[in-house]
Amino acid sequence: MIDPWGSANLEYMDLIEKFGVRPFSEVLDDVPEPSWLMRRGIVFGHRDYDRILEAIRSGSDFAVVTGMMPSGRMHIGHKMIVDQLRWYDKLGAEIFIPIADMEAYSARGIDFETSRRIAIEEYIAGYIALGLDLTKDNIHVYLQSENLMVEDLAYVLAGKVNFNELRAIYGFTGSTSMAHMYAPIIQVADILHPQLEELGGPRPTVVPVGPDQDPHIRLTRDIAGRFREKYGFILPSSTYHRFMGGLTGGKMSSSRPKSAIFLSDTPEEAEEKIRNAKTGGRETLKEQRELGGVPEDCIIYETLLYHMSGSDPELEEIYESCRNGTLMCGECKNNTAEFIRKFFEELSRKRKKALSTAGRVLEG
Ligand code: SF4
Repeated sequence: MIDPWGSANLEYMDLIEKFGVRPFSEVLDDVPEPSWLMRRGIVFGHRDYDRILEAIRSGSDFAVVTGMMPSGRMHIGHKMIVDQLRWYDKLGAEIFIPIADMEAYSARGIDFETSRRIAIEEYIAGYIALGLDLTKDNIHVYLQSENLMVEDLAYVLAGKVNFNELRAIYGFTGSTSMAHMYAPIIQVADILHPQLEELGGPRPTVVPVGPDQDPHIRLTRDIAGRFREKYGFILPSSTYHRFMGGLTGGKMSSSRPKSAIFLSDTPEEAEEKIRNAKTGGRETLKEQRELGGVPEDCIIYETLLYHMSGSDPELEEIYESCRNGTLMCGECKNNTAEFIRKFFEELSRKRKKALSTAGRVLEG
């Protein structure tokens, strides 16, 4: 019964069973010094991760690609991507971070100038504040609309993709715009272009994504296979992470401000949001003592699971004390609110500093 990491994964098992994604637990023991996101089951699935492990073990070259969609405010749920990138950066991976301004235009109607501003002020500043040095030589951040290598590759790849295929994957209809239809091919090119000769040639590549992005991964792998002879592509690997829930139940989303803590929130706002968050506690203290709480259904616990990076035993203790009714929600919330306030005090300082340099990242 006691499984501090695994219980919330059940809803994702479908993806594993239906589409051939493998459980990450199968390879976890082979990962040298796995990240806490891996250890805690937040990264729950993979395709062909063995290739990446082989590259890590042998110290050979591999790439990581993960995009950012500049369409709203960056929230604490997005931090998980940065945490994964920091882990790969330490291993010496070459990291590509496309800013999906073409997709933001085709799917959300956001013009390129606005995308650029949002990318700089929200995401690039946020990534830097969270500890990823975007000025390093092994890290490449670019706007899709300004990367000619990606655009040229997308056009070539599109030569072997037809409407029926995209309709089957994405549900496109006769009234879908051409721009919208083309956006997935740009993403495929984002993922495959690190393997072009100009950038060093074929190499293992991993794409950390949420489960909703798996259709893009399947399409990319299919297309990579069609162009294997021309470019020698190695099918990209992927990992799948679960999403942090919203503070008020449901999903955490930039479009529902009360559901999320934004990186631009003040420490006081962040603390207040935690104090108002939904818990998995019982109606009364008496019931909580008798029955214990339900950490699997508690955003406070989830906040610690995703963001208390250091100590697994400390987190396990919180889980067990909650389950056995010795920890009450008031105390638990207080501690978590304090933890988040301190985290945001530091983050706000770093973010302010990062805002003054973030624009330069796109000039390099
Ligand atoms: Fe959540 Fe903590 Fe209450 Fe348990 S004790 S339900 S982990 S707030």
